[in-house]
Amino acid sequence: MSKATHNFFISSISDNNFEQCLKCSICTVYCPVSAVEPLFPGPKQAGPDGERYRLKNPRFTDDSLKLCLNCKRCEVACPHDVRIGDIIQRARLQNSKHKPGIRARLLASTDLVGKIATRLTPAFNTILSLKTTKEYKHRMLGIDRHFAFPTYARVTFEKWFEKNAAKKQSGFSQQVAYFHGCHVNYNDTAPGIAFVNVMNKLGFGVTLINDEKCCGNPFMANGMPQKALKLAFHNLNQLRLTSQQVPIVLTTSSTCTFTIRDEYNFVLGLDNHDVRDKISLATRFIYKKIEDGELILPPVKPDFKLRIAYHSACHMEKLGWSFYSSSLLRMIPGVQLIMLDSLCCGMAGTYGFKTENYRRSLKIGEPLFQAIREAEADVVVTDCEMCKQQIEAATGARVLHPIEVLAMALDD
Ligand code: SF4
Ligand code: SF4
Repeated sequence: MSKATHNFFISSISDNNFEQCLKCSICTVYCPVSAVEPLFPGPKQAGPDGERYRLKNPRFTDDSLKLCLNCKRCEVACPHDVRIGDIIQRARLQNSKHKPGIRARLLASTDLVGKIATRLTPAFNTILSLKTTKEYKHRMLGIDRHFAFPTYARVTFEKWFEKNAAKKQSGFSQQVAYFHGCHVNYNDTAPGIAFVNVMNKLGFGVTLINDEKCCGNPFMANGMPQKALKLAFHNLNQLRLTSQQVPIVLTTSSTCTFTIRDEYNFVLGLDNHDVRDKISLATRFIYKKIEDGELILPPVKPDFKLRIAYHSACHMEKLGWSFYSSSLLRMIPGVQLIMLDSLCCGMAGTYGFKTENYRRSLKIGEPLFQAIREAEADVVVTDCEMCKQQIEAATGARVLHPIEVLAMALDD
C-alpha cells in the first residue's frame, strides 16, 4: 500500500467531531442546497446524524451526499463547531462504490488538461465553443450544454513570469513566494500578473513555488482521494522547501488556500500544521501590513473611480477572510464598495458543470445574481475564480479579483 493510501484510510471518520452536534438544526437554515433541493436530507442529517449510522455500517452512505456543494456554510453557522462539511466529504470519499468515470477524470485533471489546452489555444477555445462540441460534452460526458466552459490562456502564467518578470525579482530586498493555482496558470492569468505587479510596487520580489501542482481540490470533489493525497504530499513538500528560503507564501485563489490550510488536514488527514500558518491570501497580507504601519499604500491614479459590488465566496466565509479583501478595497481612494449579502453562487468548483447539477446550481445562485443586478456596480469583485465564472455567465457582469482592482488603481 502506498504512503498516500495508508494515510487516508487509517484516519477514523469519527475524527470529525460529529458527537458535538446538539441537533439545533441551524446548519440546515444556512445550507444553500437544502433551500432548493427537497432530495437533499440537509447538513444535520447528511452530516452528524448520518455518521452515526455510517460508523455502524458504511452501507448507510447514500448517493444524496453528492448533492452537497462542500461550501462549508453549515460549518460557519454551527454554534458547536461540528465539521459538518468535512464529515460529508470524508464519507463520500471513503465509502463511495462508484469508480470515477471519464468526466470526473477530465474535470479533475486540471494540470494535464491545462498543459494540453494552452498549447492548442486559440484553436482549443474555438472547438470548446462550438455547438457540436457542447452537444457532444452534454450527451457523452455529462457536462451541461449550457455551461460556458472556462477558456484557456495562450501563454501560461508560469511562462509569462519567466519571460517578463523572473529576472528583476532578485532586485527587491524583501521576498514573498506565490502559489498561483491552476486557474491562474492555465485559464485566467490576469490575477497572477496583477499580483506580481502589485507586490513589486509594494517593494516585494516574487518567487514561484518550485514545481507547483494542482492543490488537489478537484480530485477530492470528483471522488479521487488517492490522487488528491499524492498532490497534497507533493505540494506540502514543495511549500516546505520554498518556505526555508522565503517564509511568506501568498495566494490569490481562496479555494486553493482553503484546501491547503484546512482540507489537507480535516479531509485528507495530513499533518500540515508547519505549513498552514505560513500561507495567506495576498489581500490579507497587504491589509495587515498597512494596518500595522509597516507598509504605505502607494499613490493611486488621481481620476480612479470604481463602484464595486464585493461577493464573499463560500470558502472566504469559512476562512473568515472576506474582511481583509473588502477592507483593502475600501482603502483605495475612488472605490465605492457595496458589500453583497453573503450568498453561495452555486458553482462549487466543478459541481455546476455537470448536467445533473446545472439547473440546481443556477437556482442556488439566483438570490446572489439578483442582488448583483440590483447593485448596478461597475464591477463585481470576488476572491474565487469559479464564482467569477458563474457570476459572469449568469449576470453578464464583469468580475475581477481584488488584486486586479489594486493593480488598476495604483499609479505607474
Ligand atoms: S448547527 Fe451544528 S449543532 Fe446544530 S444541528 Fe447542525 S451540526 Fe448539529
Ligand atoms: S457544505 Fe454546504 S451544501 Fe454541504 S451540507 Fe454544508 S451548507 Fe449544505
